[in-house]
Amino acid sequence: MATKTTLRVIPLGGLGEIGRNMMLLEYGDDIIVVDVGLMFPEEEMLGVDLVIPDFSYLRQNSEKLRAVFLTHGHEDHVGALPYFLREFDVPVYSTRLTDGLIRVKLQEHRLGQKAKTHVVNPGEVIQAGVFEVEFFTVAHSIPDACGLIIRTPLGLVVHTGDFKLDHTPVMDQHTDLIRLAQVGAEGCLLLLADSTYAEVDGYTPSEQLVGEALRNIMVNAQGRVIVATFASLISRVQQVIDAAVFTNRKVFVTGRSMIDNVAMARQLGYLQAPEGVIIGVEEMRSTPPSRLVVVTTGSQGEPTSALTRMANGDHRHIQIMKGDTVVLSASPIPGNEQAVYRNVDNLFRLGADVLYNRVSNIHVRGHASREELKVIQGLLQPEYFVPIHGEYRHLVVHARLAESVGVPPGNAFVLTDGDVLEIDEEAAWLGERVPASYVYVDGLGIGDVDQHILRDRAHLSTDGVVVVIVTVDKQTGALERPAEILARGFVDLDEREDLVERTKDVVANALRGAEHYAEFGDINTRIRDAVSKFLYDETRRRPMVLTVTVEV
Ligand SMILES: [Zn+2]
Ligand SMILES: [Zn+2]
Repeated sequence: MATKTTLRVIPLGGLGEIGRNMMLLEYGDDIIVVDVGLMFPEEEMLGVDLVIPDFSYLRQNSEKLRAVFLTHGHEDHVGALPYFLREFDVPVYSTRLTDGLIRVKLQEHRLGQKAKTHVVNPGEVIQAGVFEVEFFTVAHSIPDACGLIIRTPLGLVVHTGDFKLDHTPVMDQHTDLIRLAQVGAEGCLLLLADSTYAEVDGYTPSEQLVGEALRNIMVNAQGRVIVATFASLISRVQQVIDAAVFTNRKVFVTGRSMIDNVAMARQLGYLQAPEGVIIGVEEMRSTPPSRLVVVTTGSQGEPTSALTRMANGDHRHIQIMKGDTVVLSASPIPGNEQAVYRNVDNLFRLGADVLYNRVSNIHVRGHASREELKVIQGLLQPEYFVPIHGEYRHLVVHARLAESVGVPPGNAFVLTDGDVLEIDEEAAWLGERVPASYVYVDGLGIGDVDQHILRDRAHLSTDGVVVVIVTVDKQTGALERPAEILARGFVDLDEREDLVERTKDVVANALRGAEHYAEFGDINTRIRDAVSKFLYDETRRRPMVLTVTVEV
């Protein structure tokens, strides 16, 4: 019996975690990709800059890869694209602003020339192998955000991207409920829906609240108002400009990615600012503080961002002073809290007033709460459901919600990264998993930092390192002279000469009995074990012990 072709749903990121969203749909000889996002490292990922999805399944199946579709321009959906496009030469489809944002990013990675990016309008249909993909608009915290309606040989699949049902969205972009109702009427095989706020009851408030809050802050502030947010949060930047115009203030933009994105968004018409409102450095210097708003990067405490430099007192153009009001218009992403609150502390120290998520309503969520999720279920009435975008608990809670409003029992699948859902005409089931581990980006290296390296870094950071240098006779393996002992981050050896001397004895004892030629591996292990045990007994610390063997 020939095996039937199944529709395979393969999340490579974003399921069981917040960030690095990436989903594959596979049917026969065709694979399409939805989103290629990144995740910011958690605190225990020492020294890691970014975390991206594992592309190994695509490497093994690269001849099937047809296209990439991007739902919107946030980093957790497009941030890993430069790393992806270095390896895979496929067309990338997205709406206009998303395309503008990724062009800026690809330029930074010097991939601007080669990448095949295409701008798509909502309602347009793209053929990619057996798949027909249509973008539909959604309300979210960035303009041009979309979900996807994907026609497959087995039926229609809807991927919501990130969305909410805002009835008064900024820049007038609504979630296209009419189109979704049509899909529901035709029959929806599978719904993949945003779970980020599946725990939150009721409805998510409208973005308009943020505009009002910003306006009030600017009316009441005596001095400058400095607003930090994500460089990709274009609609928030628009709200800042609107509030500035309303309160008769000028706007100065700082932070490289913010400057680039604002320029791009103005050029494409996504940011509206009356003549003369956005000003340069010279004019900023001569504008009184009460007439000035600064828009900056750094809402996440990123070390090299403009806000962090202001907080540290080393920004080129802006010195924080008494009377400044700093607004962090973005909640800290888990893992960034420490860096964010360090900035908040420093800004307070410099005399600024700081408004952040704990104390003010300056950031509204961009994701649908429970009642909104029910509306989508009701319109689409999918046969199968997979919650996407969320920690494991969000996915479970969302799956239960779906079953409570009509998804047939057992047809809501909680998948995590690397799981494979297989669907045919009769049923759906979990197939064999594919690789989906964390791929770490550290400096110029991609994927060369692994769990072992991170464990070593953690080890080094808690108890330091001790290096034992031994000189042995090439023929006999006997110790030629006392070992040398070096340490970093362990104890100050200059003050512990006793410990150094006794460690040397331990090394000598460990090698006694190895009269004839010993393998270096063996020497190293003997020394490491003996020294580790000795130092632990003496200090109750476990430094990493490294041995260097010199033959003479
Ligand atoms: Zn988003
Ligand atoms: Zn997202």
